[in-house]
Amino acid sequence: MYELNRKLRKIEGYDPAAGTSKIVLDANESPFNINDTFREEIAEGVGKLALNRYPDPYATEAVKAFAKFYNVPESFVTAGNGSDELISIITSCFLEKGDKILTLSPDFSMYAFYGKLYETNVTVMQKDDIYNTFSVGKVIEHCNNNDIKAVIFSNPCNPTSLGIKREEIIRLIKNVFCLVIIDEAYMDFWTESILPDIAQFDNVIVLKTLSKALGAAGIRLGFAVAGETITGALRAAKSPYNTDLLSQEIGRIVLSHPETAKENINYIVTAREKLQEELVKLSDRYPCLDKVYDSVTNFVFIKTSKGLEIYEKLLTRGISIRYMGIYIRITSGTEEENAEFIDALKDILAQICEAE
Ligand SMILES: *Cc1c(COP(=O)(O)O)cnc(C)c1O
Repeated sequence: MYELNRKLRKIEGYDPAAGTSKIVLDANESPFNINDTFREEIAEGVGKLALNRYPDPYATEAVKAFAKFYNVPESFVTAGNGSDELISIITSCFLEKGDKILTLSPDFSMYAFYGKLYETNVTVMQKDDIYNTFSVGKVIEHCNNNDIKAVIFSNPCNPTSLGIKREEIIRLIKNVFCLVIIDEAYMDFWTESILPDIAQFDNVIVLKTLSKALGAAGIRLGFAVAGETITGALRAAKSPYNTDLLSQEIGRIVLSHPETAKENINYIVTAREKLQEELVKLSDRYPCLDKVYDSVTNFVFIKTSKGLEIYEKLLTRGISIRYMGIYIRITSGTEEENAEFIDALKDILAQICEAE
């Protein structure tokens, strides 16, 4: 009888958000569908594609549009099937079996997942529980004292919604010998990207995605930005046709409209600020919402002992948020969706929590 090997016997796949709710605030997506904004341009662009042919292995047109959008050299950019695929390629290729990789917690779970899958030696450093962020000094010390080959984290962080400033990130990069992978999936909502400095460093990979601020999670397009040596290796190591013709074309269109992206981002940030204010007010009234963290992203992160009850009761009202043990995470939707969520939450808190 065929038996799975040890690492596959205990593997747990990613548990995706269900997505059948009326109001979906659980996956940090954009509330704006690019098909509403660019329907004609997409129909025309996609209509012309030679779908009998293999796609461009380097997604040249999408990469060009990305490079222009973020003002980085094209020669620094690799396209991937979502940044998720790029995380997989980086952990499998830039680390050898048994190499030590440092991740943090709470942070995006896929880093440790791929690290383990590729048989690297994963260390998870716990973040300070009160501030839920990490000390750059501690990470530098840990990397240098423990022969860490790569450190990977998101900035701003999913799920904590907090960010670390550019100078601190640069201090980290300059003081370690290992590869530093910075996942800037949410940096479009903040201002502390290190992309403007990327050419100075030969040990950095910045990951970007079209899935969050740019509203294109459905097309699976992510990008890695790094110096030419790393980029050359990434392009060589990835599977040849990792991004398809449709994604490349739709990605190119989305990235060619920075003004639309900016408008949407401004809307989302304003909506998230309001959402957060409402949540802070509720946490003042209901101590069972222990802490509403600051946010520099499109979502709000809350520490609460009632997470499961809140999550389940919201679901029965057609609203999905993310439940994560002692935390819940709520993506900002449209202003109307957020208002509906707040109304539902007020009802639920009145039922299940003592007011102050
Ligand atoms: C959503 C998310 C991703 C995944 O991006 P894809 O490009 O859709 O694979 C990567 N990193 C973080 C931190 C995320 O939250």
